[in-house]
Amino acid sequence: MSSTQPRTVVVGGGIIGISTAHHLARAGADVTLITEGELTSNASGRSLSWLNSAGMRSEEYHRLRMAGIDRYRTLAARQPGLSWLRFDGGLAWQAPDHADELRRVHEHELAHGYDSHLIDPGRVAEHTPGVDPAAIPPAGAIWNPGEGWVDLPNLAQHLIKEFAERGGRLVTDAGPVRVETSGGAVSGVRTAGGEPHAADTVVLATGPAVPAMAAELGVTIPDQTPISLLVTTKPVDTPLRAVLNTPRASLRPTPYGALAVDSDWPTADIRPNAGGGFDISEEVVAQLLAEASRLLAGNPRLEAERCAMGPKPIPGDGDPVLGRVDEVGGLWVGFTHSGATLALIAGELLAYEIGTGRAHPMLAPFNPRRFR
Ligand SMILES: Cc1cc2nc3c(=O)[nH]c(=O)nc-3n(C[C@H](O)[C@H](O)[C@H](O)COP(=O)(O)OP(=O)(O)OC[C@H]3O[C@@H](n4cnc5c(N)ncnc54)[C@H](O)[C@@H]3O)c2cc1C
Repeated sequence: MSSTQPRTVVVGGGIIGISTAHHLARAGADVTLITEGELTSNASGRSLSWLNSAGMRSEEYHRLRMAGIDRYRTLAARQPGLSWLRFDGGLAWQAPDHADELRRVHEHELAHGYDSHLIDPGRVAEHTPGVDPAAIPPAGAIWNPGEGWVDLPNLAQHLIKEFAERGGRLVTDAGPVRVETSGGAVSGVRTAGGEPHAADTVVLATGPAVPAMAAELGVTIPDQTPISLLVTTKPVDTPLRAVLNTPRASLRPTPYGALAVDSDWPTADIRPNAGGGFDISEEVVAQLLAEASRLLAGNPRLEAERCAMGPKPIPGDGDPVLGRVDEVGGLWVGFTHSGATLALIAGELLAYEIGTGRAHPMLAPFNPRRFR
């Protein structure tokens, strides 16, 4: 590696920073990934990680998500049988009084070629095992055979292995890193312990911390990050393979024979605690698991193994914020919801922009300059 090569520092060891660092190292760049604690210790360590482009959104965003799924499919084809990356489909339904919405979503998905089937409750077992048809409203459910899920901590280990083999440097437990500038451009970063890392390019991929860190550099990135909950159950005997997205609970299998479960409604019960973390009542967790059990054939008893709470990064307008920051020379940002679906493509396209100096057309709608 030549010492005259531009140096890039990626800040943030979640899946967006890891993927970006991985793709930069793959392209032969001089790259250091620096993170506050351990890898995937924040949102990427407690994600439902449903790989999808279901529902209604702009065509540009749909295309980006489909490219994200395409990269996962390539990975799955190259390494068949991975326990942590599965494409066993997704099943979704709406509350009984939202039957019109269900049909609208299905029509929208069909119109842009998303593999989408509206099926009667009694026919669900023909498509995917393990679901209790009694839980599905009469309007039916949407079956999306092309969807899947990924376990992000396993993906992170997979990506970081190649990153290290290609000469990438990893710094963990650095504490909150600060980006330093000089003359309107980045000059590097400094760890909480004061250790400097000079850089020509810095990628801000600190998940929920991106808006505040960008604001310190004079850059406004609107934020609507909520606090979220992910419950992982103890191992459970169920043939379920698909991801389920339903009004009261969403869930997917894990590589370890358990289920990961989340939903929006329990978040109203999450309270910050004195230690800087979050608490939730056992009753609410039990209620969420009861809702999840109702969805499964045989209604198995589900017990919580782990309740993980914390910020779920969501930009102010809901769309990804990916690309070069005009106001600060050498600064790129990666801040997004659905970061599991987007991880591989977001890292690839950010690395493309940094490596070539050219804007990638697929990232144009998602550049932070849209907020100016
Ligand atoms: C409950 C839940 C369900 C979800 N469901 C889905 C889903 O079904 N499908 C989907 O596609 N996506 C889903 N997501 C979203 C997806 O998981 C996130 O978008 C993704 O994990 C974000 O990754 P990230 O790297 O941007 O952020 P993070 O994983 O939060 O990583 C940011 C990293 O930066 C570090 N950091 C922060 N500040 C600093 C600093 N100053 N210096 C150094 N390091 C710092 C943190 O320690 C952390 O390691 C879900 C998320 C949650 C929480």
